[in-house]
Amino acid sequence: MQKSREIIFASNNKGKIKEIKEILYPLGIKVISGEDIELPDVEETGKTFEENAYIKALAAAKIKNIPCVADDSGLCVDAIGGRPGVYTARYAPNRDFDKGMDKLLLELSETNSTNRSAYFSCVIVLAYPDGNYKSFEGRVDGSIATQKTGKSGFGYDPIFIPTGYNRSFAEFNSDEKNKISHRGRALQKFIKYLTDNENIL
Ligand code: IMP
Repeated sequence: MQKSREIIFASNNKGKIKEIKEILYPLGIKVISGEDIELPDVEETGKTFEENAYIKALAAAKIKNIPCVADDSGLCVDAIGGRPGVYTARYAPNRDFDKGMDKLLLELSETNSTNRSAYFSCVIVLAYPDGNYKSFEGRVDGSIATQKTGKSGFGYDPIFIPTGYNRSFAEFNSDEKNKISHRGRALQKFIKYLTDNENIL
């Protein structure tokens, strides 16, 4: 892979951008966030993670007239029909994820279900100004804890326990999380695509 390549990652979510930078920087790819270049927020009107990622990536690609990348991600909880899913960011009152976690724990306890299985999903879309695109999906299965633990990460990490572990994502260091997370897995597929197609960026 060539050095000093740059991508515009159309997101203002600091937690996400930090993880994306950690994974792409060692590969010589500089990540420019939506905030860095003052990209306007776009409304996420899609019904799937892929549709929303495409809407964000295409909006940036049209403004900058170069291929741009965006992701959409969320937490899907089986006992409540896969919600909050694409509405994960909006599920938290005023995007206060501490309150969002309390809301989810309460909603789950009110179902009286013993099923706490859940997964995080992430779809990364590379969109071209002409509307063409390529998408990359990553998923991590796990369960919803009964209480919050840990201080690392962001969003719903303190209540998500990945399968095969007995601690929440917020108790992982960033390298550990990036290796198995939905975003890490989607990024690995994206990186493979970039490696196989040297002249894309
Ligand atoms: P969006 O992809 O910008 O629509 O936001 C998705 C929301 O899902 C984020 O704001 C977080 O609350 C949550 N989320 C996505 N990925 C993660 C993660 O790795 N850990 C914790 N929460 C996440």
